[in-house]
Amino acid sequence: MTTKQLQEELLTLKKKNQVTILAHYYQPIEIQEIADYVGDSLGLSQKVSKINSEYLIFAGVDFMAETASILNQDKHVLIPNYESCCPMAAFLTPELVREFKNEYPDLPVVVYVNSTATVKAESDICCTSSNAVKVVNNIGIEFNVESVLFGPDANLADYTEQISGIRCIPMPDIGHCYVHSQIKPEHLMEMRKKFPHANLLVHPECTRKVRELADFVGSTAHMYYKVKNSSSNDIDFIIGTEIGLIQRMTQDFPEKNFYPVMDKLICYNMKKHNLELIKYLLENLDDKTFEVKVPAEIAKRAIKPIEKMLDFS
Ligand code: SF4
Repeated sequence: MTTKQLQEELLTLKKKNQVTILAHYYQPIEIQEIADYVGDSLGLSQKVSKINSEYLIFAGVDFMAETASILNQDKHVLIPNYESCCPMAAFLTPELVREFKNEYPDLPVVVYVNSTATVKAESDICCTSSNAVKVVNNIGIEFNVESVLFGPDANLADYTEQISGIRCIPMPDIGHCYVHSQIKPEHLMEMRKKFPHANLLVHPECTRKVRELADFVGSTAHMYYKVKNSSSNDIDFIIGTEIGLIQRMTQDFPEKNFYPVMDKLICYNMKKHNLELIKYLLENLDDKTFEVKVPAEIAKRAIKPIEKMLDFS
């Protein structure tokens, strides 16, 4: 069976069983092609809060499926491969958040959505890489403070502090995304030499030294719309984020050229899903092995910082 035939079979099954499929921009392109919604963490969180179908298949990492479960306690959220986890989220535990809160009792806790449900339950507000600056500015005003606790990504904390002027104390200071933190200034300089007229876009999860060499710093959705709204003279783009976004933009904007800032910029955790696994789920919707269900008492606490973020967005 070809990929196309398998995709058609899945689309038929999805329609018949009234299932919604959500996919992150970093998913394999053949999954993005059959999804009802494709987006970054913020876009998907916003979609998830408005979905009517009883079953949701979330092609993303575990924290994304957990967020969907928190926002849809009455629905079944399924993940095609339950080994798809985010190593960055593992940098921050609820115990560590409580330690920081004890040390800084007056400061609000901002957590990146790339965190576990139990960590979200300890926070005052969530953020994504699309809205971190806005969230921190708003929470700074609300709590009348010039510093916040921010985790788990120390690079996003640094970026948010740079732009907002509000001190973002990282929880912990070693939290990072292994995909973005492997990009080094040398990679950017090499690509600049090769493509001197190209626009260079990087993600805020990159280090400050990398961000300072880029033309534009933004989330995956911001990068996507930066390209979409670019003039017809802007043809070449060097992209400093996971390869899945490049695949998506190559499809959506065939008139532009995209170059990854370095080879093998792949989130292997995101790539653990495939069409066969989705087919199994569509044929076995009641297999609890693949259901992500955040316990009600955690969900009740974790929903508040997520909804507060969505209100600000
Ligand atoms: S790209 Fe980085 S932050 Fe995103 S899921 Fe992969 S490891 Fe986690």
